[in-house]
Amino acid sequence: MNKRVFKDKKLVIASHNKGKIAEIKDLLAPLNIEILSAYDFNIEEPEENGATFEENALIKSSFVTQKTGLPSISDDSGICFSDLNDDPGIYSARWAGSNKNFYSAMSKINTAIKEVKQPNYDCYFICSLSISWPDKFDVTVSGKVHGKFSWPPKGDKGFGYDPIFRPLGYNMSFAEMDPNYKHKISHRSIAFNKLINLCFPNLKC
Ligand code: IMP
Repeated sequence: MNKRVFKDKKLVIASHNKGKIAEIKDLLAPLNIEILSAYDFNIEEPEENGATFEENALIKSSFVTQKTGLPSISDDSGICFSDLNDDPGIYSARWAGSNKNFYSAMSKINTAIKEVKQPNYDCYFICSLSISWPDKFDVTVSGKVHGKFSWPPKGDKGFGYDPIFRPLGYNMSFAEMDPNYKHKISHRSIAFNKLINLCFPNLKC
């Protein structure tokens, strides 16, 4: 891997999701560079028409790099339920509708799982991260964390589907966990550690 630099010591988070932006900012703090987001440039969201999380992550980071001329990082993530053939998967954000009603998305999952004859409640969060540089160099990595569907939703920390996801080995949902603890074990931190090891091995996250 050739040495990667951040032009003007800036990196843009290619996202409009405030929960994700907050988590990514925390995880990137050790880079010690200015972290911006798509909001700072008034950039619209590109169409996420990839067939996988990896493809959608790359669509978003390369789009923002092309628009800003700066390196950009994107996160495409979601939750997959074994009882629902891995739905909502890449459609996790869309299941919440344009008003981003995650309570309604979580209820839809509960209703669908109730209809399954012998549910196993297995699920996982996945995060694909892509980083693009203006010289068209890109890196994409993924991280997963496995858990069980848990109903009713519990906790008021985190965002999105956190209240119904209980990571394996824990008796609480992601939304009940201290955010710093979630950062240590989440799909996003697993993907971040891979990215840091690959692109910035001198840094420790
Ligand atoms: P997208 O990657 O912007 O397409 O959105 C993925 C969706 O998955 C988000 O809107 C969240 O609802 C959900 N999601 C991804 N990561 C997490 C997480 O760490 N906790 C809860 N929900 C998440």
